[in-house]
Amino acid sequence: MPKYVFVTGGVVSSLGKGIAAASLGLLLKARGLRVCLQKLDPYLNVDPGTMSPFQHGEVFVTEDGAETDLDLGHYERFTDTSLSRKHNITAGQVYDTIIQKERRGDYLGRTVQVIPHVTDEIKNHIREVAADVDVAIIEVGGTVGDIESLPFLEAIRQMYLELKRGDTAFIHLTLVPFVKASSELKTKPTQHSVKELREIGIQPDILLCRSESHLTPDIREKIALFTNVRKESVIEALDVSSIYQVPLVFHEGDLDGQVCALLGLETPLPDLDDWRRFVHAVDEPKGEVKVAICGKYTHLRDSYKSIIEAMSHAGAVNGVRVNLEWVDTEKIELDGAHAWLSQVHGILVPGGFGDRGSAGKLDAVRYARENNVPYFGICLGMQAAVIEYARNVCSMARANSTEFDAHTPYPVIDVLPEHAGAGRMGGTMRLGAYPCRLKGESKSFEAYGTEFVSERHRHRYEVNERYRDDLMRGGLIMAGICPDNSLVEIVELPGHPWFVGVQFHPELKSRPMHPHPLFRSFVAASVKEAARREAGARKSKA
Ligand code: GLN
Repeated sequence: MPKYVFVTGGVVSSLGKGIAAASLGLLLKARGLRVCLQKLDPYLNVDPGTMSPFQHGEVFVTEDGAETDLDLGHYERFTDTSLSRKHNITAGQVYDTIIQKERRGDYLGRTVQVIPHVTDEIKNHIREVAADVDVAIIEVGGTVGDIESLPFLEAIRQMYLELKRGDTAFIHLTLVPFVKASSELKTKPTQHSVKELREIGIQPDILLCRSESHLTPDIREKIALFTNVRKESVIEALDVSSIYQVPLVFHEGDLDGQVCALLGLETPLPDLDDWRRFVHAVDEPKGEVKVAICGKYTHLRDSYKSIIEAMSHAGAVNGVRVNLEWVDTEKIELDGAHAWLSQVHGILVPGGFGDRGSAGKLDAVRYARENNVPYFGICLGMQAAVIEYARNVCSMARANSTEFDAHTPYPVIDVLPEHAGAGRMGGTMRLGAYPCRLKGESKSFEAYGTEFVSERHRHRYEVNERYRDDLMRGGLIMAGICPDNSLVEIVELPGHPWFVGVQFHPELKSRPMHPHPLFRSFVAASVKEAARREAGARKSKA
């Protein structure tokens, strides 16, 4: 029988509940337990796929093509496992299922209510995901006190009652703010947040207290007393310089030991040596490189979460810190690419939607191509590479994607009929894992070291079959093709140190212990570029 750990959050949002849950997952896995993580999102959208990145940050895509919350990215990276659509449930999905059942007459004339119908549906989803693990870690999104969270909290409260003592544990993440004026940590917000949770009927077993300075013994005692939590279970979650330190901090606070004790699980101490080595490589790099990320949402780092993490994995394995320079491509349109890109050792154009800033992306591609700067194009970044090549090398004036110009004379990027959408927005893209066959003697083949790979997708547009031969005659290399439907997955340039555009999202599969081959290879190329420039600078000085 699986055991359950429920993770809730209080006081304010963005305290890192997802990272806390993921860290616990890592620690329990390192103790030899089979673990799974699930995120319950209280909003009414069916999935975050239709939400603006301004609202929601990155949409994380799973192998089976679910568009999910970015916390699933943390879960995958910390526990080194691939998740599916079962691992992210939203209130929108729950209500959608219930309303469909009601319309079919499944409720046999009864009144359909939040308790028990909505809560039962939620509990079914939780039980389903936990079916074959030792411990299921269930994170409830939002902050205690939100109206939307109530059915989810009620469902987990019921599970506590229904299951045996020792089969559930409740962890609550709160904030203990430091108030400058009086120069002290304040416990009141935590007290109130736990009070609210207890009013709903949930008594937390463990508190994780985010704070910028150490919790003194008397602060811990006070929190313990007012929240009815044991003093040793008031665990401090000090701010750290990298998210990858969080599991180590929690282990120091005995989080995993206490959870195992609460659940009656006898396990060995976790072996965290590999993780420590990785954290050390992230924290103490031997060198640095500068990579520009040229996109539209550059002021919203959450929109590029997985890219940021993939860069840190690739940096660690290359022994460098990858300093990311965020460049808004509309600025490139104003000032020219040189002004923004002449100091960087690698250029990455990430995925994106819509025309705004697209001309600047083409300028960035051109700059990388003409100046032999390593270029990594991801999804829209790959499409931009194809458009730029068509226009400036293959003389197809005004070549474009039909996403940006419906009347372009050369629609080198075009929508597939089956993804045209038919008026629907959600879930109508090419989503999830598809295979890709690599061309021998390509940069990609060199990086992956294998002929067949599988990568995750999230896009509507493709390289247009009609122009493929023209582009190839012009020199563009089709380095990866999907064997299922012969769509172009990867393009490369000949005679360039490193220029790779991929239609998929490699960042979604990068893990600390398994950095993604293309990121690894791109960072290695950027390191080379940095060394080349340094040598050049030395020469010109001498
Ligand atoms: N807008 C492009 C498409 O739909 C690219 C999508 C992306 O970059 N994820 O194909």
